[in-house]
Amino acid sequence: MKYPIGSERRPLRVAIIGAGPAAFYAAGDLLKRQNPYVEVDMFERLPTPYGLVRGGVAPDHQNIKNVTKIYERIARLPNFRFWGNVTFGKDIHRHELKSRFDSILYAVGAQSDRRMNISGEDLLGSYSATEFVGWYNGHPDYRDLTYDLSVKKVAIIGLGNVAIDVARILTKSSDVLSNTDITAYTLDALKKSQIEEIYLIARRGPVQAACTPLELQALLDLDQTRVTIDPEALQFDNASQHILEQTKDRNVRRNVELFQQISQKTTTHSRKTIHFRFLRSPVEIYARQGRVSGIKLVKNQLVRMDDDKLKAHSTNTFEELPVGMVLRSIGYLGTQLDDVPFDEKRGTIPHQTGRVFDDKTNQPIPGEYVAGWAKRGPSGVIGTNKTDAIETVQTMLEDFKDQQAEEIQQSHEDSIKSWLESKSIHFGSFQDWKNLDQIEVEAGMLKGKPREKVTQISEMMTLIEKKRKA
Ligand code: NAP
Repeated sequence: MKYPIGSERRPLRVAIIGAGPAAFYAAGDLLKRQNPYVEVDMFERLPTPYGLVRGGVAPDHQNIKNVTKIYERIARLPNFRFWGNVTFGKDIHRHELKSRFDSILYAVGAQSDRRMNISGEDLLGSYSATEFVGWYNGHPDYRDLTYDLSVKKVAIIGLGNVAIDVARILTKSSDVLSNTDITAYTLDALKKSQIEEIYLIARRGPVQAACTPLELQALLDLDQTRVTIDPEALQFDNASQHILEQTKDRNVRRNVELFQQISQKTTTHSRKTIHFRFLRSPVEIYARQGRVSGIKLVKNQLVRMDDDKLKAHSTNTFEELPVGMVLRSIGYLGTQLDDVPFDEKRGTIPHQTGRVFDDKTNQPIPGEYVAGWAKRGPSGVIGTNKTDAIETVQTMLEDFKDQQAEEIQQSHEDSIKSWLESKSIHFGSFQDWKNLDQIEVEAGMLKGKPREKVTQISEMMTLIEKKRKA
Protein backbone atom coordinates (compact mmCIF):
# COMPACT_ATOMS: atom_id res chain seq x y z
CA MET A 1 0.00 0.00 0.00
CA LYS A 2 1.23 3.48 -0.85
CA TYR A 3 1.41 6.41 1.55
CA PRO A 4 2.44 10.05 1.05
CA ILE A 5 6.20 10.51 1.36
CA GLY A 6 6.65 12.54 4.51
CA SER A 7 3.85 10.82 6.47
CA GLU A 8 4.59 8.90 9.68
CA ARG A 9 3.93 5.64 7.85
CA ARG A 10 6.31 6.59 5.06
CA PRO A 11 8.79 9.19 6.28
CA LEU A 12 10.90 11.19 3.86
CA ARG A 13 14.30 9.49 4.14
CA VAL A 14 17.20 11.86 3.67
CA ALA A 15 20.92 10.98 3.53
CA ILE A 16 23.18 13.92 4.30
CA ILE A 17 26.82 13.60 3.23
CA GLY A 18 29.13 15.57 5.51
CA ALA A 19 28.72 16.77 9.11
CA GLY A 20 29.75 20.43 9.04
CA PRO A 21 27.58 23.50 9.68
CA ALA A 22 25.57 23.26 6.41
CA ALA A 23 24.83 19.58 7.08
CA PHE A 24 23.60 20.28 10.62
CA TYR A 25 21.52 23.33 9.65
CA ALA A 26 19.86 21.26 6.90
CA ALA A 27 19.21 18.39 9.35
CA GLY A 28 17.79 20.82 11.92
CA ASP A 29 15.44 22.40 9.39
CA LEU A 30 14.28 19.00 8.11
CA LEU A 31 13.64 17.62 11.58
CA LYS A 32 11.99 20.63 13.20
CA ARG A 33 8.59 19.80 11.72
CA GLN A 34 6.10 16.95 12.08
CA ASN A 35 4.78 17.49 8.58
CA PRO A 36 6.48 16.30 6.50
CA TYR A 37 7.83 13.62 8.77
CA VAL A 38 11.53 13.19 8.01
CA GLU A 39 14.33 10.81 8.96
CA VAL A 40 17.91 12.02 8.57
CA ASP A 41 20.98 9.80 8.27
CA MET A 42 24.22 11.80 8.28
CA PHE A 43 27.31 10.11 6.82
CA GLU A 44 30.70 11.59 7.68
CA ARG A 45 34.14 10.31 6.67
CA LEU A 46 35.67 11.18 10.07
CA PRO A 47 34.48 9.68 13.36
CA THR A 48 34.08 13.30 14.57
CA PRO A 49 31.35 15.75 13.46
CA TYR A 50 31.33 19.56 12.89
CA GLY A 51 33.62 19.95 9.85
CA LEU A 52 35.55 23.23 9.86
CA VAL A 53 34.21 24.21 13.28
CA ARG A 54 36.54 21.52 14.64
CA GLY A 55 39.17 21.48 11.90
CA GLY A 56 39.19 25.08 10.66
CA VAL A 57 38.17 27.62 13.31
CA ALA A 58 41.31 28.96 14.97
CA PRO A 59 42.07 27.51 18.42
CA ASP A 60 42.16 30.98 20.01
CA HIS A 61 38.56 31.54 18.85
CA GLN A 62 36.94 29.11 21.28
CA ASN A 63 33.74 31.19 21.55
CA ILE A 64 32.99 30.57 17.83
CA LYS A 65 33.05 26.84 18.57
CA ASN A 66 30.09 27.22 20.96
CA VAL A 67 27.89 26.87 17.88
CA THR A 68 28.39 23.09 18.22
CA LYS A 69 25.91 23.19 21.14
CA ILE A 70 23.19 23.96 18.57
CA TYR A 71 24.38 21.08 16.39
CA GLU A 72 24.40 18.75 19.37
CA ARG A 73 20.77 19.60 20.10
CA ILE A 74 19.92 18.73 16.48
CA ALA A 75 21.81 15.45 16.81
CA ARG A 76 19.66 14.55 19.84
CA LEU A 77 16.42 14.83 17.83
CA PRO A 78 14.60 11.46 17.57
CA ASN A 79 14.91 10.89 13.81
CA PHE A 80 18.56 11.87 13.51
CA ARG A 81 21.38 9.36 13.07
CA PHE A 82 25.12 9.96 12.68
CA TRP A 83 27.29 7.42 10.90
CA GLY A 84 30.90 8.48 11.42
CA ASN A 85 34.00 7.03 9.73
CA VAL A 86 31.99 6.29 6.58
CA THR A 87 33.42 7.69 3.34
CA PHE A 88 31.18 8.51 0.40
CA GLY A 89 32.73 7.17 -2.81
CA LYS A 90 34.79 4.56 -0.94
CA ASP A 91 32.65 2.83 1.70
CA ILE A 92 29.27 3.84 0.32
CA HIS A 93 28.27 4.89 -3.18
CA ARG A 94 25.76 7.17 -4.80
CA HIS A 95 23.75 4.33 -6.44
CA GLU A 96 23.51 2.51 -3.09
CA LEU A 97 22.17 5.60 -1.38
CA LYS A 98 19.73 6.24 -4.20
CA SER A 99 18.12 2.84 -3.63
CA ARG A 100 17.90 3.37 0.15
CA PHE A 101 16.93 7.03 0.46
CA ASP A 102 14.42 9.35 -1.18
CA SER A 103 16.90 12.18 -1.13
CA ILE A 104 20.67 12.72 -0.91
CA LEU A 105 21.97 16.08 0.27
CA TYR A 106 25.66 16.77 -0.37
CA ALA A 107 27.15 19.09 2.26
CA VAL A 108 30.79 18.18 1.87
CA GLY A 109 32.34 21.66 1.92
CA ALA A 110 35.51 22.33 -0.06
CA GLN A 111 38.22 19.74 0.56
CA SER A 112 41.16 21.35 -1.22
CA ASP A 113 42.58 24.80 -1.93
CA ARG A 114 43.37 27.04 -4.90
CA ARG A 115 46.88 27.08 -6.32
CA MET A 116 48.86 30.12 -7.40
CA ASN A 117 50.24 28.34 -10.50
CA ILE A 118 53.63 30.02 -10.25
CA SER A 119 57.12 28.60 -10.52
CA GLY A 120 58.47 27.26 -7.21
CA GLU A 121 55.03 26.63 -5.69
CA ASP A 122 55.93 23.03 -4.80
CA LEU A 123 59.32 23.78 -3.27
CA LEU A 124 60.08 22.68 0.27
CA GLY A 125 58.89 25.62 2.38
CA SER A 126 55.93 26.56 0.14
CA TYR A 127 52.65 25.29 1.54
CA SER A 128 48.88 25.65 1.53
CA ALA A 129 47.56 27.77 4.43
CA THR A 130 44.39 25.66 4.61
CA GLU A 131 46.53 22.55 5.20
CA PHE A 132 48.54 24.47 7.80
CA VAL A 133 45.23 25.28 9.53
CA GLY A 134 44.28 21.59 9.37
CA TRP A 135 47.65 20.74 10.90
CA TYR A 136 47.45 23.08 13.90
CA ASN A 137 43.83 22.02 14.44
CA GLY A 138 44.70 18.29 14.48
CA HIS A 139 42.72 17.27 11.40
CA PRO A 140 43.61 13.60 10.73
CA ASP A 141 44.44 14.38 7.06
CA TYR A 142 47.08 16.94 7.99
CA ARG A 143 48.36 15.99 11.46
CA ASP A 144 51.43 14.25 9.98
CA LEU A 145 52.61 17.27 7.98
CA THR A 146 55.78 18.94 9.19
CA TYR A 147 56.67 22.62 9.06
CA ASP A 148 60.10 24.06 9.64
CA LEU A 149 59.42 27.14 11.79
CA SER A 150 63.13 27.87 12.22
CA VAL A 151 62.89 30.44 9.38
CA LYS A 152 62.83 34.14 10.25
CA LYS A 153 60.47 35.45 7.55
CA VAL A 154 57.21 34.14 6.14
CA ALA A 155 55.02 35.40 3.27
CA ILE A 156 51.30 34.68 3.38
CA ILE A 157 49.59 35.20 0.02
CA GLY A 158 45.97 36.46 0.14
CA LEU A 159 44.10 38.67 2.57
CA GLY A 160 41.08 36.66 3.67
CA ASN A 161 40.27 35.53 7.20
CA VAL A 162 42.36 32.36 6.82
CA ALA A 163 45.46 34.45 6.09
CA ILE A 164 44.79 36.57 9.18
CA ASP A 165 44.17 33.49 11.36
CA VAL A 166 47.48 31.96 10.25
CA ALA A 167 49.41 35.21 10.80
CA ARG A 168 47.93 35.49 14.30
CA ILE A 169 48.73 31.90 15.27
CA LEU A 170 52.32 32.29 14.02
CA THR A 171 52.64 35.48 16.05
CA LYS A 172 51.07 34.55 19.37
CA SER A 173 53.34 33.04 21.96
CA SER A 174 52.97 29.36 22.76
CA ASP A 175 52.19 30.34 26.38
CA VAL A 176 49.13 32.31 25.25
CA LEU A 177 47.98 29.46 23.00
CA SER A 178 48.58 26.75 25.61
CA ASN A 179 45.12 27.24 27.13
CA THR A 180 43.34 26.71 23.79
CA ASP A 181 42.55 23.42 22.05
CA ILE A 182 45.58 23.77 19.75
CA THR A 183 47.30 20.41 19.30
CA ALA A 184 50.21 19.54 21.59
CA TYR A 185 52.58 18.96 18.64
CA THR A 186 51.80 22.47 17.29
CA LEU A 187 52.59 24.02 20.66
CA ASP A 188 55.94 22.20 20.66
CA ALA A 189 56.69 23.47 17.14
CA LEU A 190 55.64 27.04 18.03
CA LYS A 191 57.85 27.01 21.14
CA LYS A 192 60.85 26.49 18.87
CA SER A 193 59.64 28.94 16.21
CA GLN A 194 62.17 31.54 15.05
CA ILE A 195 59.64 33.47 12.95
CA GLU A 196 60.04 37.23 13.40
CA GLU A 197 58.42 38.79 10.36
CA ILE A 198 55.25 37.90 8.51
CA TYR A 199 54.26 39.54 5.21
CA LEU A 200 50.57 39.53 4.31
CA ILE A 201 50.46 39.97 0.53
CA ALA A 202 47.21 41.28 -1.01
CA ARG A 203 46.84 41.55 -4.76
CA ARG A 204 44.38 44.46 -4.42
CA GLY A 205 44.07 47.39 -1.98
CA PRO A 206 42.71 47.87 1.57
CA VAL A 207 39.20 48.71 0.23
CA GLN A 208 39.11 45.27 -1.41
CA ALA A 209 40.46 43.27 1.56
CA ALA A 210 38.53 39.98 1.92
CA CYS A 211 39.04 39.72 5.69
CA THR A 212 36.44 40.90 8.21
CA PRO A 213 36.90 43.72 10.78
CA LEU A 214 36.77 41.37 13.76
CA GLU A 215 39.79 39.49 12.46
CA LEU A 216 41.70 42.68 11.66
CA GLN A 217 40.93 44.08 15.10
CA ALA A 218 42.42 40.92 16.63
CA LEU A 219 45.71 41.72 14.88
CA LEU A 220 45.63 45.24 16.29
CA ASP A 221 45.09 43.82 19.76
CA LEU A 222 48.09 41.48 19.62
CA ASP A 223 50.55 41.98 22.41
CA GLN A 224 54.17 42.55 21.51
CA THR A 225 53.52 42.51 17.77
CA ARG A 226 54.17 45.45 15.52
CA VAL A 227 51.86 45.75 12.52
CA THR A 228 52.96 47.92 9.60
CA ILE A 229 51.34 49.30 6.48
CA ASP A 230 53.05 51.23 3.76
CA PRO A 231 51.32 54.69 4.08
CA GLU A 232 51.20 54.85 0.28
CA ALA A 233 48.73 51.96 0.37
CA LEU A 234 46.22 54.19 2.16
CA GLN A 235 46.29 56.76 -0.67
CA PHE A 236 43.46 55.28 -2.71
CA ASP A 237 42.98 55.51 -6.45
CA ASN A 238 39.81 57.40 -7.53
CA ALA A 239 37.76 54.27 -8.13
CA SER A 240 38.56 52.78 -4.69
CA GLN A 241 37.88 56.14 -3.02
CA HIS A 242 34.51 56.26 -4.78
CA ILE A 243 33.67 52.71 -3.63
CA LEU A 244 34.67 53.58 -0.07
CA GLU A 245 32.40 56.65 -0.07
CA GLN A 246 29.44 54.94 -1.73
CA THR A 247 29.52 51.43 -0.29
CA LYS A 248 26.72 50.16 1.95
CA ASP A 249 29.06 47.42 3.19
CA ARG A 250 30.01 48.48 6.72
CA ASN A 251 32.81 45.92 6.77
CA VAL A 252 34.63 47.76 3.98
CA ARG A 253 34.49 51.09 5.82
CA ARG A 254 35.45 49.50 9.14
CA ASN A 255 38.36 47.62 7.55
CA VAL A 256 39.74 50.87 6.14
CA GLU A 257 39.40 52.58 9.54
CA LEU A 258 41.31 49.70 11.10
CA PHE A 259 44.04 49.85 8.46
CA GLN A 260 44.36 53.57 9.25
CA GLN A 261 44.63 52.80 12.97
CA ILE A 262 47.24 50.16 12.24
CA SER A 263 49.30 52.67 10.25
CA GLN A 264 49.28 55.06 13.22
CA LYS A 265 49.91 52.55 15.99
CA THR A 266 53.33 52.41 17.61
CA THR A 267 54.38 49.32 19.52
CA THR A 268 57.44 49.57 21.68
CA HIS A 269 58.20 46.03 22.84
CA SER A 270 57.62 44.00 19.74
CA ARG A 271 58.90 40.47 19.35
CA LYS A 272 57.37 40.04 15.93
CA THR A 273 56.19 42.17 13.03
CA ILE A 274 53.34 41.71 10.59
CA HIS A 275 53.70 43.75 7.38
CA PHE A 276 50.72 44.37 5.11
CA ARG A 277 51.79 44.60 1.48
CA PHE A 278 49.00 45.71 -0.86
CA LEU A 279 48.76 45.71 -4.66
CA ARG A 280 51.25 42.89 -5.12
CA SER A 281 50.97 39.44 -6.67
CA PRO A 282 53.41 36.54 -6.41
CA VAL A 283 55.17 35.62 -9.64
CA GLU A 284 57.92 33.22 -8.58
CA ILE A 285 59.24 31.44 -5.50
CA TYR A 286 63.01 30.97 -5.30
CA ALA A 287 65.05 28.29 -3.59
CA ARG A 288 68.47 27.94 -2.06
CA GLN A 289 69.70 24.38 -1.46
CA GLY A 290 66.26 23.05 -2.28
CA ARG A 291 64.37 25.22 0.24
CA VAL A 292 62.35 28.39 -0.24
CA SER A 293 64.64 31.41 0.08
CA GLY A 294 62.54 34.20 -1.39
CA ILE A 295 59.54 35.30 -3.36
CA LYS A 296 59.30 37.64 -6.33
CA LEU A 297 56.26 39.94 -6.38
CA VAL A 298 54.90 42.15 -9.12
CA LYS A 299 53.26 45.46 -8.28
CA ASN A 300 49.67 45.78 -9.45
CA GLN A 301 47.35 48.59 -10.36
CA LEU A 302 43.58 48.38 -10.11
CA VAL A 303 41.60 48.39 -13.33
CA ARG A 304 37.84 48.83 -13.51
CA MET A 305 36.11 45.94 -15.33
CA ASP A 306 32.82 45.94 -17.27
CA ASP A 307 30.96 44.79 -14.14
CA ASP A 308 32.43 47.81 -12.25
CA LYS A 309 34.64 45.57 -10.11
CA LEU A 310 38.28 46.56 -9.66
CA LYS A 311 40.71 43.90 -10.79
CA ALA A 312 44.46 43.68 -10.16
CA HIS A 313 46.57 44.18 -13.28
CA SER A 314 50.33 43.67 -13.10
CA THR A 315 52.78 46.47 -13.92
CA ASN A 316 56.43 46.12 -14.92
CA THR A 317 57.68 46.79 -11.40
CA PHE A 318 58.92 43.86 -9.34
CA GLU A 319 60.29 43.36 -5.86
CA GLU A 320 61.76 40.47 -3.93
CA LEU A 321 61.20 39.40 -0.36
CA PRO A 322 63.78 37.13 1.27
CA VAL A 323 61.41 34.72 3.04
CA GLY A 324 62.01 31.14 4.16
CA MET A 325 58.38 30.03 3.98
CA VAL A 326 55.41 30.85 1.73
CA LEU A 327 51.84 30.01 2.69
CA ARG A 328 49.28 30.44 -0.05
CA SER A 329 45.94 31.48 1.41
CA ILE A 330 43.93 32.26 -1.69
CA GLY A 331 40.80 30.28 -0.97
CA TYR A 332 39.51 26.75 -0.47
CA LEU A 333 38.45 24.70 -3.51
CA GLY A 334 35.88 21.92 -3.74
CA THR A 335 36.86 18.51 -5.09
CA GLN A 336 34.65 16.18 -7.14
CA LEU A 337 32.63 13.52 -5.37
CA ASP A 338 32.58 10.12 -7.02
CA ASP A 339 29.81 9.98 -9.65
CA VAL A 340 28.35 13.40 -8.72
CA PRO A 341 28.18 16.34 -11.20
CA PHE A 342 30.93 18.89 -10.67
CA ASP A 343 31.79 22.36 -11.94
CA GLU A 344 35.61 22.18 -12.24
CA LYS A 345 36.11 25.92 -12.49
CA ARG A 346 34.08 26.90 -9.44
CA GLY A 347 34.84 23.72 -7.50
CA THR A 348 31.15 23.27 -6.72
CA ILE A 349 28.24 20.96 -7.52
CA PRO A 350 26.04 22.58 -10.22
CA HIS A 351 22.59 23.39 -8.84
CA GLN A 352 19.55 25.62 -8.91
CA THR A 353 18.32 26.71 -5.47
CA GLY A 354 19.99 23.60 -4.07
CA ARG A 355 18.61 21.09 -6.62
CA VAL A 356 21.60 19.29 -8.23
CA PHE A 357 21.79 19.70 -12.01
CA ASP A 358 23.25 17.24 -14.45
CA ASP A 359 26.08 19.20 -16.07
CA LYS A 360 25.68 17.29 -19.35
CA THR A 361 21.92 17.56 -19.89
CA ASN A 362 21.43 20.67 -17.73
CA GLN A 363 18.40 18.97 -16.19
CA PRO A 364 17.73 18.57 -12.46
CA ILE A 365 18.62 15.19 -10.98
CA PRO A 366 15.61 13.94 -8.99
CA GLY A 367 16.32 13.42 -5.29
CA GLU A 368 19.78 15.06 -5.15
CA TYR A 369 20.56 18.32 -3.40
CA VAL A 370 23.52 20.38 -2.27
CA ALA A 371 24.16 22.89 0.53
CA GLY A 372 27.02 24.95 1.99
CA TRP A 373 30.39 25.50 0.32
CA ALA A 374 29.79 22.59 -2.11
CA LYS A 375 26.84 24.67 -3.36
CA ARG A 376 27.94 28.32 -3.27
CA GLY A 377 31.74 28.04 -3.00
CA PRO A 378 33.93 28.87 0.02
CA SER A 379 32.43 32.14 1.20
CA GLY A 380 30.69 33.67 4.19
CA VAL A 381 30.81 32.90 7.88
CA ILE A 382 29.42 29.86 9.72
CA GLY A 383 25.94 31.40 10.00
CA THR A 384 25.76 31.94 6.21
CA ASN A 385 25.32 28.19 5.93
CA LYS A 386 22.02 28.36 7.79
CA THR A 387 20.17 30.44 5.18
CA ASP A 388 21.89 28.43 2.48
CA ALA A 389 20.80 25.08 3.97
CA ILE A 390 17.24 26.30 4.58
CA GLU A 391 16.93 27.27 0.91
CA THR A 392 17.99 23.76 -0.14
CA VAL A 393 15.60 22.12 2.33
CA GLN A 394 12.72 24.22 0.96
CA THR A 395 13.54 23.08 -2.57
CA MET A 396 13.67 19.47 -1.42
CA LEU A 397 10.37 19.62 0.42
CA GLU A 398 8.65 21.21 -2.59
CA ASP A 399 9.85 18.33 -4.76
CA PHE A 400 8.40 15.69 -2.44
CA LYS A 401 5.12 17.48 -1.73
CA ASP A 402 2.71 15.20 -3.58
CA GLN A 403 4.74 12.05 -3.91
CA GLN A 404 3.72 8.64 -2.62
CA ALA A 405 5.64 5.44 -1.94
CA GLU A 406 5.22 2.00 -0.39
CA GLU A 407 5.15 1.80 3.40
CA ILE A 408 8.47 0.75 4.95
CA GLN A 409 8.25 -2.33 7.13
CA GLN A 410 11.75 -2.55 8.61
CA SER A 411 13.11 0.23 10.82
CA HIS A 412 15.25 2.39 8.61
CA GLU A 413 17.92 2.62 11.30
CA ASP A 414 18.21 -1.18 11.42
CA SER A 415 18.39 -1.49 7.66
CA ILE A 416 21.17 1.14 7.37
CA LYS A 417 23.04 -0.48 10.24
CA SER A 418 22.91 -3.96 8.73
CA TRP A 419 23.84 -2.56 5.31
CA LEU A 420 27.00 -0.90 6.74
CA GLU A 421 27.81 -4.00 8.80
CA SER A 422 27.46 -6.21 5.72
CA LYS A 423 30.21 -4.09 4.16
CA SER A 424 32.40 -4.48 7.30
CA ILE A 425 32.45 -0.72 7.82
CA HIS A 426 33.75 0.22 11.26
CA PHE A 427 31.34 3.09 11.89
CA GLY A 428 30.83 5.34 14.91
CA SER A 429 27.53 6.75 16.22
CA PHE A 430 26.84 10.18 17.70
CA GLN A 431 27.08 8.61 21.18
CA ASP A 432 30.51 7.25 20.21
CA TRP A 433 31.54 10.80 19.29
CA LYS A 434 30.21 12.08 22.64
CA ASN A 435 32.33 9.47 24.43
CA LEU A 436 35.38 10.58 22.46
CA ASP A 437 34.48 14.20 23.18
CA GLN A 438 34.49 13.41 26.91
CA ILE A 439 37.89 11.71 26.63
CA GLU A 440 39.30 14.77 24.84
CA VAL A 441 37.81 17.22 27.34
CA GLU A 442 39.15 15.22 30.31
CA ALA A 443 42.62 15.01 28.74
CA GLY A 444 42.50 18.76 28.13
CA MET A 445 41.51 19.52 31.74
CA LEU A 446 44.74 17.98 32.98
CA LYS A 447 46.64 20.56 30.92
CA GLY A 448 44.35 23.56 31.46
CA LYS A 449 43.01 23.31 27.88
CA PRO A 450 39.38 23.02 26.69
CA ARG A 451 40.33 19.67 25.11
CA GLU A 452 43.29 17.70 23.87
CA LYS A 453 42.22 16.45 20.47
CA VAL A 454 42.71 12.89 19.32
CA THR A 455 44.11 13.36 15.84
CA GLN A 456 44.38 9.87 14.34
CA ILE A 457 41.35 8.00 13.07
CA SER A 458 42.74 4.64 14.22
CA GLU A 459 43.23 5.99 17.76
CA MET A 460 39.74 7.52 17.74
CA MET A 461 38.22 4.17 16.75
CA THR A 462 40.25 2.28 19.37
CA LEU A 463 39.07 4.67 22.10
CA ILE A 464 35.49 4.43 20.85
CA GLU A 465 35.68 0.63 20.93
CA LYS A 466 37.14 0.67 24.46
CA LYS A 467 34.31 2.90 25.72
CA ARG A 468 31.70 0.65 24.10
CA LYS A 469 33.10 -2.33 25.97
CA ALA A 470 33.47 -0.50 29.31
P1 NAP B 1 38.79 34.44 0.93
O1 NAP B 1 38.05 35.16 1.96
O2 NAP B 1 38.11 34.14 -0.35
O3 NAP B 1 40.15 35.27 0.63
C1 NAP B 1 41.01 34.86 -0.39
C2 NAP B 1 42.08 35.93 -0.59
O4 NAP B 1 42.99 35.45 -1.57
C3 NAP B 1 41.55 37.28 -1.13
O5 NAP B 1 42.29 38.30 -0.55
C4 NAP B 1 41.82 37.15 -2.64
O6 NAP B 1 42.00 38.38 -3.26
C5 NAP B 1 43.13 36.41 -2.61
N1 NAP B 1 43.42 35.72 -3.86
C6 NAP B 1 42.63 34.88 -4.56
N2 NAP B 1 43.26 34.41 -5.64
C7 NAP B 1 44.49 34.97 -5.63
C8 NAP B 1 45.62 34.87 -6.47
N3 NAP B 1 45.61 34.09 -7.54
N4 NAP B 1 46.73 35.58 -6.16
C9 NAP B 1 46.76 36.37 -5.07
N5 NAP B 1 45.73 36.51 -4.21
C10 NAP B 1 44.61 35.81 -4.50
O7 NAP B 1 39.32 33.00 1.45
P2 NAP B 1 39.75 32.44 2.88
O8 NAP B 1 40.56 33.39 3.64
O9 NAP B 1 40.30 31.10 2.57
O10 NAP B 1 38.38 32.25 3.66
C11 NAP B 1 37.36 31.36 3.17
C12 NAP B 1 36.04 31.67 3.86
O11 NAP B 1 36.11 31.26 5.22
C13 NAP B 1 35.71 33.14 3.87
O12 NAP B 1 34.33 33.30 3.69
C14 NAP B 1 36.12 33.57 5.26
O13 NAP B 1 35.44 34.72 5.73
C15 NAP B 1 35.76 32.33 6.06
N6 NAP B 1 36.53 32.31 7.31
C16 NAP B 1 36.01 32.98 8.36
C17 NAP B 1 36.72 33.06 9.54
C18 NAP B 1 36.12 33.83 10.69
O14 NAP B 1 35.00 34.28 10.58
N7 NAP B 1 36.84 34.02 11.77
C19 NAP B 1 37.96 32.45 9.66
C20 NAP B 1 38.49 31.78 8.56
C21 NAP B 1 37.75 31.72 7.38
P3 NAP B 1 40.83 39.06 -4.15
O15 NAP B 1 39.91 39.71 -3.17
O16 NAP B 1 41.57 40.01 -4.99
O17 NAP B 1 40.18 37.96 -4.92
